[in-house]
Amino acid sequence: MDAADSLLVRNACLTDGRRAQDVRVEAGRITAIGTGLAAPAGVPVLDAEGQLLSPPFVDPHFHMDATLSYGLPRVNASGTLLEGIALWGELKPQLTQDALVERALQYCDWAVAKGLLAIRSHVDVCDERLLAVEALLHVKQRVAPYLDLQLVAFPQDGVLRAPNALANLKRALDLGVDVVGGIPHFERTMSDGAESVRVLCELAAERGLRVDMHCDESDDPLSRHVESLAFQTQRLGLHGRVTGSHLTSMHSMDNYYVSKLLPLMAEAGLHAVANPLINITLQGRHDSYPKRRGMTRVPELMAAGVNVGFGHDCVMDPWYSLGSGDMLEVAAMGLHVAQMTAQDQMRACFDAVTVNSARILGLPDHGLEVGKAADFVLLQARDPVEAIRLRATRLAVVRRGAVVARTPAATAALALPGRPAAVDWTLMR
Ligand SMILES: [Zn+2]
Repeated sequence: MDAADSLLVRNACLTDGRRAQDVRVEAGRITAIGTGLAAPAGVPVLDAEGQLLSPPFVDPHFHMDATLSYGLPRVNASGTLLEGIALWGELKPQLTQDALVERALQYCDWAVAKGLLAIRSHVDVCDERLLAVEALLHVKQRVAPYLDLQLVAFPQDGVLRAPNALANLKRALDLGVDVVGGIPHFERTMSDGAESVRVLCELAAERGLRVDMHCDESDDPLSRHVESLAFQTQRLGLHGRVTGSHLTSMHSMDNYYVSKLLPLMAEAGLHAVANPLINITLQGRHDSYPKRRGMTRVPELMAAGVNVGFGHDCVMDPWYSLGSGDMLEVAAMGLHVAQMTAQDQMRACFDAVTVNSARILGLPDHGLEVGKAADFVLLQARDPVEAIRLRATRLAVVRRGAVVARTPAATAALALPGRPAAVDWTLMR
């Protein structure tokens, strides 16, 4: 046995509530989970000290070609989606491959440190040079030992609206980009939007690829491209392989119409991605008061049987000036915006940044189960709800059985007369 990718984790809580569990890893895979497992000679032991061992975080929606470009060439003054798109258009001609690669690699380092080991990133294909596509394909290879990067061919300026966008999108797929993207609400007309959904879903069906569209990222209650997406998914038999991202217009839709739409989405096996940090800041900008929240109907989608993930979407780019790759921050914002405060709902928000998102990417090896890859995160918390509450410290991040990042436990020493010497943020249980 090679001790380099073998490990025994002792005394961990698991996300399903099991306590005092040991996890044995051999040759980079989980081979046993239980109590009192023996540590083979020479195998390193990671003492979890009763803390939570979770499958790694998965981000189902990100823009790695734009990340860490905040302020280049200027800052988004209005804070709107449309100014962000215009700003990205100003920046694109100035991009260099080296700068793209450097920023993406830096973000991947941040991600790994936060226990984020799989990311689906859209990459803009509306640039004749396909500079960002080549850069991110290179990054995907570079980070493969420690992070799964899945790329979506994203026609930011509209696959029908922008010249050569469809041809460029196909070239990107030929180069090895994994997923077909789209942006129907940005096409010139509603009918062009519906047409773009048809063309792109047929392309995905022909090539046996998954689909992930920016869909109805708008406050317009009549933006209904998700209906076309569900229809084309059903027609082409793409069940379980198609994702509608953002879906913010659903927030503003008529309730009667939504009562018809939700079963159609479930029937087509659509996945949905909400991007709470971004849409709570971008949407509702044309409202006075009351201001709409600008997030899709997460609990209702979940209740209808639609798999929902939460994405980070942006970190320090033309659309969003903050962020650090912390999917617990994403889960916390999603929980607040959707008012998902019941115990089972808070746990569902944790699933939205772990197992649900892994289903969206189609990652068969994700999950803390015997036989799966030994990828996990040790969090300074006792359960998923506490992890969200504390944005828990990632005590250790493990990839294929090797510890790839560590962060010291968050503690504070008190200097108060008559009080304990250190603060414990967990509840006594
Ligand atoms: Zn996006």
